[in-house]
Amino acid sequence: MVARSGLRDAYVMLILTRGLRGVRGSKPGDHRNALYMFVQPFVWVMTPQEQLTGGKAIVTRTVRRIPPGSIDPTVKNLQWGDFTRGMFEAADREAGHPFLTDGDGNLTEGSGFNVVLIKDGILYTPDRGVLHGVTRKSVLEVASGMNMETRVEVVPVELAYMADEIFTCTTAGGIMPITSLDGKSIGDGKVGPITTKIWDAYWQLHYDPKYSFAVDYFTGSDARTSKL
Ligand SMILES: *Cc1c(COP(=O)(O)O)cnc(C)c1O
Repeated sequence: MVARSGLRDAYVMLILTRGLRGVRGSKPGDHRNALYMFVQPFVWVMTPQEQLTGGKAIVTRTVRRIPPGSIDPTVKNLQWGDFTRGMFEAADREAGHPFLTDGDGNLTEGSGFNVVLIKDGILYTPDRGVLHGVTRKSVLEVASGMNMETRVEVVPVELAYMADEIFTCTTAGGIMPITSLDGKSIGDGKVGPITTKIWDAYWQLHYDPKYSFAVDYFTGSDARTSKL
């Protein structure tokens, strides 16, 4: 798809669905699994411009993350009721990026991104109630590779207010520095040194064959003229 689109910086999405049949009046066996996929220009959850100074986040007060017993957050899914409310609240409070809690004082994640807190050189990210994002996985690997300590555990929301640095991460945007939380600066309000190191190392991985493969655009343009 990327090759045939000709896009050099692309965003690809794969979505599994049971199709258009309603739930009522049909049995689970009546539904056929379907897959649709699309490719579009790369999506930036935080614009490259905003990444230079860092984004503004809030811990939402009007909505919590849907409990794992209702919808399993480890499965990437399109139930966005909680995130959408969070984004509205963020906009109302002059911020761009909502962080949701589990309703019990612990941090989960935000609207399509994982959250990483840095305190005294240690990286913290919640172990539960979140998607185990692949960007976060890469972050943990590059951090360990640079001999930084990483902790994937229950993260109380207080830690976010005490953090020296905060960043969020997702495929659609990479490493996204957060420099303001609930209207107050994180640290000195500038993008921190550890965030910068992780940012550099993460984008460097895109050129590492262990983490990436080249798209063959020549075959792609060939394929476009075939009967595929
Ligand atoms: C996509 C997504 C992430 C980030 O996952 P990646 O695999 O790094 O792209 C985190 N949380 C939620 C809710 C998401 O939808």
